[in-house]
Amino acid sequence: MIAYESLQQVNKEFMDEYTAAFQEVLHGGWYILGKQVAKFEQSFASYCGVPHCIGVASGLDALVLSLRYFGFNPGDEVIVPANTYIASILAVMQAGLKPVLVEPDINTYNIDSKKIESAITARTRAILVVHLYGKICDMDPILQLAGQYGLKVIEDCAQAHGASYKGKKAGSFGDFGAFSFYPTKNLGALGDAGAITCKDEGLNKSIRTLRNYGSSAKYVFNEVGYNSRLDELQAAFLSIKLKRLDKITTHKQKLAAIYLRELKSDFILPTVQTGQEDVFHIFAVRHPERDRLKQYLIENGIGTEIHYPIAPHQQKAMQGILSEERYPISEEIHRTILSLPISYGHTEADITRVVEVMNRF
Ligand SMILES: *Cc1c(COP(=O)(O)O)cnc(C)c1O
Repeated sequence: MIAYESLQQVNKEFMDEYTAAFQEVLHGGWYILGKQVAKFEQSFASYCGVPHCIGVASGLDALVLSLRYFGFNPGDEVIVPANTYIASILAVMQAGLKPVLVEPDINTYNIDSKKIESAITARTRAILVVHLYGKICDMDPILQLAGQYGLKVIEDCAQAHGASYKGKKAGSFGDFGAFSFYPTKNLGALGDAGAITCKDEGLNKSIRTLRNYGSSAKYVFNEVGYNSRLDELQAAFLSIKLKRLDKITTHKQKLAAIYLRELKSDFILPTVQTGQEDVFHIFAVRHPERDRLKQYLIENGIGTEIHYPIAPHQQKAMQGILSEERYPISEEIHRTILSLPISYGHTEADITRVVEVMNRF
């Protein structure tokens, strides 16, 4: 059986270091916002090529706090991709703003930069891009549009740790980069965790206040803040894994190369563009008979996932909010997409076996 993912397998090589880090934090007696968090924030900022990183409680919080920072008026509009994980859209709503969905490019699955301009209105304040599956969006035209219309740019980098576009890494393009360290992400913790990257010292200071109850000094509250802090244990685990992130990425890229080279042409493969380095958080193929393919793979001992089976605007939670809208390209992706095994815990032989079975479909 080749499982889609086994976190036990992924974390095996880190276990001794994790155990030592646990002992250190336990005996240190300081568990939230301490030296482990400060150390991780510094190394992750430097990894992303930005001056600042602020640890928060989750990827969703990283998005909400970024949006909250700007103090937009209730009902102001934020452009988000129609093809994304629900969190990107929920963040806009939880910040009291209105999500305006834009269709993806059918080849990259990311927001179609050519369709953004027609979605901009007098109330548009920001563009929230999502670097889905580990591929950075078409940032040059997006940043150009944002500049032209005076819009803020927030990057949802939850699936793109270390991905690059023209030599720059995810989280270094917009006003804010929002990261999740949910255990299955390329840089995964052992629980919930997230971070925000930014280039501006003022933004850095404000987010630090916002994540800690709006507190500027102990028991002094200058604004209505959140409790969204990264804890010492998760930061210690993340520092250990960050040192190996490039190795994790290289491994996943090597597995992706096998799929790209060897899968037969019946499957629609992810596009690879020059000047971009994808980190393959997910390796997604498309096929018109996706459900039958998934079942066939299960019968042959191969686990897969669907990211995602139901488009955000068709979710029950969005009834009456986005349910009247139609996004045929996003719907087509949701109907045909399938994620193949591509974990740090998989070997090249595992992938070769998946290819063999897939090519007999
Ligand atoms: C995982 C994910 C999030 C949310 O991260 P959490 O840490 O689970 O809150 C947001 N956006 C995308 C695209 C994700 O994949």
